Amino acid sequence: MTARDALADAQSRVNEIDVAEAQQRQQQGALLLDVREECERLAGFPTGSLGTPRSGLELSIRDQVNDPQAELLLMCAAGQRSLLAARDLIAMGYRNVSSVVGGYSAWKSMGMPCTTPLQAEAEYLDRYSRHIRLPEVGLQGQARLVGAKVLLVGAGGLGSPVGMYLAAAGVGHIRVVDDDRVERSNLQRQVMHADARIGMHKVTSARIGLQSLNPRVQVESVMQRLDRSNVDGLVRDVDVVVDGADNFATRYVLSDACVRHAKPLVYGAVQRFEGQVSVFDAGRQRGTAPCYRCLFPQAPSPQDAPSCAEAGVLGVLPGLVGLMQATEVIKLILGIGETLTGRLLHIDSLAMRFRESRLLPDPQCSVCRVDGAADVLPSNGAEVASIEADSAVCGPVSGCASKAC
Ligand SMILES: [Zn+2]
Repeated sequence: MTARDALADAQSRVNEIDVAEAQQRQQQGALLLDVREECERLAGFPTGSLGTPRSGLELSIRDQVNDPQAELLLMCAAGQRSLLAARDLIAMGYRNVSSVVGGYSAWKSMGMPCTTPLQAEAEYLDRYSRHIRLPEVGLQGQARLVGAKVLLVGAGGLGSPVGMYLAAAGVGHIRVVDDDRVERSNLQRQVMHADARIGMHKVTSARIGLQSLNPRVQVESVMQRLDRSNVDGLVRDVDVVVDGADNFATRYVLSDACVRHAKPLVYGAVQRFEGQVSVFDAGRQRGTAPCYRCLFPQAPSPQDAPSCAEAGVLGVLPGLVGLMQATEVIKLILGIGETLTGRLLHIDSLAMRFRESRLLPDPQCSVCRVDGAADVLPSNGAEVASIEADSAVCGPVSGCASKAC
């Protein structure tokens, strides 16, 4: 096959768009991938683009974009390499890939926003200056945040403040998992979304919200419900996991996977005027730190833990709890301070009182006990599966059967 044949073949398989449409889609949350080599980017690149050189694209793309549904816009210098690269990504299973006609030269000549590495560096120092001047963070700590990957399960009440503050802090890669759409009743507390985005998938709205706050952050939208079939792939390659789930089944599946893959899990729950926060790190600290199942061996009945839709929730409360979760994530990434590992913080927003319970690992825990039982599925898996349909429970705050409550 000649180069001409290869290009004609690619053209028959790949959607091509012009630079104006590329910019419009980028503003709506599509990811612009600059497939030129690093040396070409030194002279400048499209603002907000992610450099993924063509020479290593197939090897690096899974680390950068895990979701095959993600909208990807590929750009090179003139539009040929991006066309071939797009064809290869489609062959790898990516379903929403376009190539930008005319490439960076057309982008530049049309006056679209461009950045040079020097400008990018100055912007970086400016954006994160208040972090950088903290001796506990500094340039090195900021680089750790930028290099970190966080899994955010749920783009709702807790996911909103966590996502916003992690993006603001510069956490480089945020993977958001949710299968819901934005509803009007969400907006009383889910501040990552907006009135104009009612009806949109929450993960798409989250990407728009987070990238409008910090375009440097890569937001990976995974429009799926987290369950046993996908949890390992979502947890395996991240540094920290945030539990912003709205149901017990997801919380158990997530916690068990965090033990299996030795990832710290930052837990939060809200109901009415009360909230809870903790860090479960049993995977890395077997026998000394508890997991979620040590605290709640069994899900409470739906009567004992009504959903937010049934019981209501004060709008600011998930903000309060979510910001504490975000604080714990940042401390875990930076390795500073004392985390809530082994401690459960209760928040009573009406009295504005904070109470702390000590949490010990359960030596009989079916998941995290020291003999390594986490490699098998939890023994009460059937019971967890049976409550899977009960999708709207906010968390075991009041009335739960836990020994910690
Ligand atoms: Zn446990």
